[in-house]
Amino acid sequence: MIAEIIAAGSEMLTPHRQDTNSLFLTSELNSLGVTVAFKTIVGDNLDHLTGAASVALSRADIVIFSGGLGPTEDDLTREAAASALGLPLIRQPELLTQLAERFAKRSFVMTPNNAKQADILEGAEILPNVNGSAVGQFLATTRPGEPGTRRIVILLPGPPRELKPLFTDECRPRLANILPPSYIAKRVLRMALLPESQVDSRTAPIYKQYPDVETTILAHAGEIQLHFQAAAATLAEAQARVNELAGKIEHEMDEAVFSAQGESLEEVVLLMLGLRHLTLATAESCTGGLLAQRLTAIPGSSRYFLGGAVVYSDALKTTFADVPAELISTQGPVSEPVARSLAEGIRARTKASIGVAITGIAGPTPGAGPDAAKPIGLIYIGLADDRGTQVTELNLMGDRDRIRWWASQHALELIRKSLI
Ligand code: ATP
Ligand code: MG
Repeated sequence: MIAEIIAAGSEMLTPHRQDTNSLFLTSELNSLGVTVAFKTIVGDNLDHLTGAASVALSRADIVIFSGGLGPTEDDLTREAAASALGLPLIRQPELLTQLAERFAKRSFVMTPNNAKQADILEGAEILPNVNGSAVGQFLATTRPGEPGTRRIVILLPGPPRELKPLFTDECRPRLANILPPSYIAKRVLRMALLPESQVDSRTAPIYKQYPDVETTILAHAGEIQLHFQAAAATLAEAQARVNELAGKIEHEMDEAVFSAQGESLEEVVLLMLGLRHLTLATAESCTGGLLAQRLTAIPGSSRYFLGGAVVYSDALKTTFADVPAELISTQGPVSEPVARSLAEGIRARTKASIGVAITGIAGPTPGAGPDAAKPIGLIYIGLADDRGTQVTELNLMGDRDRIRWWASQHALELIRKSLI
């Protein structure tokens, strides 16, 4: 079963308003085992709305309309749905009475245009709306000329505080009754720093063997996520499919997978430090504390992350991490020896098991003095532990924010790899 959501409202075709109802509806439908295959946003125009409705009815089993059920000229959803379905709208006297009572209670005059809120698609059930005047509608039929098929059309008012309870209280139970039982299982595998194309070329041969599991690759901010989702008649069955595929991919990507249960890279690093009873301290130049910020954002990090120094000036690299001033003036602050000395210095000063240092040129202004000829994006990350010190040189691309973020991401991944 696939669904389409039509959000009616010209305001959502402007830069000022967003269609959020469809996000809520999608999450609800997914949990019922229904995939949302299409979403359409249409302005308040009868022809456009009718056209969108006809297209939706031709390609989806469940069509949900959001908005356009009010009393005004631009509320056209009822008319468009009726026209696309080839069904009449039938004015319901009891709804007219209810509307009149609602107005009387508030001492408002009921203008004639309100009457159209009592128009219901022939055969549809009325979904009472306790939070507003426009009722919802639920129509369960079959496709014309195709007995045994299912076609479900739902009309819901636009205000989220009306749409949400109407869906949860009225539509969900009806859909759960009609639809075959379906449970959805999800898994996410997370990897850092690999190119998306490389992950895909290595994993596609595996996930293509699981057409019943929906696989999505998302790349964002130095991280690749592989999302798996499967639906089945029981939760155990759905989970088994997803776990089998995720297990094979984990085997293929091996140590590149930092998280198989959804944890972030920061969480994994802290977890691994905890398992080994190790502590960490940082000395950051170009990232200005970003690494420390990311680690301390995780509750409980104080047990394994001792703290760090933001050593932005040359002088503070010496004051806080004992980097010899002469080393900085001869090699430049952005250099392999300074990264090494910073990592060792902060480790010795704090007595942490691991000292990590980041020094680099985030741009857009180039380095000065001995660093003047070095390119923007040049980063050195030093990692000192009881086995010695390793320094990694990176050449990152992008603007200042991106370079700083990626540097912190590389540092976390280097710490993780050192703990495997
Ligand atoms: P009303 O009886 O209030 O006129 P309606 O069903 O006609 O209800 P609309 O006029 O389309 O609904 O929308 C009313 C308000 O609901 C909009 O101003 C907007 O704030 C909100 N809204 C409508 N559609 C959406 C949507 N898809 N996502 C989020 N908010 C929405
Ligand atoms: Mg309206």
